[in-house]
Amino acid sequence: MDFRLGASAEALRAEVHDFVRDFMTHEVEERLYRTGVSHDAEYTAALAERGWLAAGWPVEWGGQGRDPLELLVLAEEMTYVDAPTIAPTVTTMVSKVIHAVATDEVKREVLPKALAGEIIVALGFSEPEAGSDVAAAQTRALRDGDEWVISGQKMFTTNAHLADYVFLLTRTNTAVPKHKGLTMFLVPMKQDGIEVQAVYTLSGERTNITYFNDVRVDDRWRIGEVDQGWRVMTVSLQDEHSAGFGTRIDRLAEAAEAWARDEVDGEGRPRIDDPDVRECLGRCATDAEVSLLLQRRATWLAETGTVPEAEGPMSKLFSSEALGRNAEDLVELMGPEALRSYFEPTAPQNGRIEHTLRYSLGTTIYAGTSEVQRNIIAQRGLGLPR
Ligand SMILES: Cc1cc2nc3c(=O)[nH]c(=O)nc-3n(C[C@H](O)[C@H](O)[C@H](O)COP(=O)(O)OP(=O)(O)OC[C@H]3O[C@@H](n4cnc5c(N)ncnc54)[C@H](O)[C@@H]3O)c2cc1C
Repeated sequence: MDFRLGASAEALRAEVHDFVRDFMTHEVEERLYRTGVSHDAEYTAALAERGWLAAGWPVEWGGQGRDPLELLVLAEEMTYVDAPTIAPTVTTMVSKVIHAVATDEVKREVLPKALAGEIIVALGFSEPEAGSDVAAAQTRALRDGDEWVISGQKMFTTNAHLADYVFLLTRTNTAVPKHKGLTMFLVPMKQDGIEVQAVYTLSGERTNITYFNDVRVDDRWRIGEVDQGWRVMTVSLQDEHSAGFGTRIDRLAEAAEAWARDEVDGEGRPRIDDPDVRECLGRCATDAEVSLLLQRRATWLAETGTVPEAEGPMSKLFSSEALGRNAEDLVELMGPEALRSYFEPTAPQNGRIEHTLRYSLGTTIYAGTSEVQRNIIAQRGLGLPR
């Protein structure tokens, strides 16, 4: 069995590795953590310039035709250093759906700008009463001639305050089962009647509540057929369900090891010599390795033409829970010191442990909670009944 990713992927890794480390100066990292916004226009422009923003797309769309393993390497290197990837990743994910489903007119208008990093698209799926059960969405779209009138409220619309468009899940039919009455729109954020309210989460990420008050949208912004929104949604959810957090565990392990080598206990003995410390580091390193391999397996399946229906969720589930588990174990091991924040100059390892502990909380929620991932694995992987 050969787990290596191949020469071209590793050559790309070396290039990306240097680029992201040059970009992620202490100042940039601190600004990103302080704002909780995973977007930086300069970073996105630099990615576009190198052809890495839409690296998997064909050259005529500004991409490089990279294969899934190369895309994985790009993601691994960027997430390792916490680069501001969320806004561009969501934008290119929605671009994929637009490319597959939208009219030529919308494609021509949106895709060149989206793939050049000039615009941002936010995801407007979740609502206060429709998160895991996203098909229960109540945001209403009513047809009025060539226009639609949209009213409702979305929850956790990350980056809506910066976005040019929101990819919006709406209800267009209440007389049919919930999955059959949904329609997707790409709503320009400049339309009248949209209000965005900040939500600051414990995990440090800024997200938003978005209100739609009789927002009028031309029918050309409908993505896919009326009442076929569920089919359009599932194209994008599959990508989300395959997320992995192995690189973040890896970085946590590295910070913990550096701490254990630097620190001494009350009797002057290096913490790294303590069997409890070594055990904890060993568990963390193992979880990092398993997480990276699970994600590589899901990617490899995708590359060979198999949708990783259960393997993607396994990667997301295991790695997000392992991230939280290891951060908690390390805090317990290091004591209250570990809880000093990133913004406190005396924090051990620049506050990496504390930041990871908080950050891990969101990872088991967004892109499908752990319970939802377990349901998917049970049903699609094991063939168990609902
Ligand atoms: C930081 C952050 C950023 C986000 N960004 C976005 C975004 O950009 N766009 C967007 O649309 N959404 C976004 N989300 C929303 C995210 O997708 C939802 O929070 C998530 O799907 C869970 O929905 P919920 O919060 O309504 O919880 P609920 O669905 O109400 O779940 C509550 C609890 O019940 C459990 N549960 C629910 N259903 C089941 C079931 N069938 N079986 C077993 N247990 C179940 C859940 O696992 C959870 O523990 C974001 C969330 C966070 C925290």
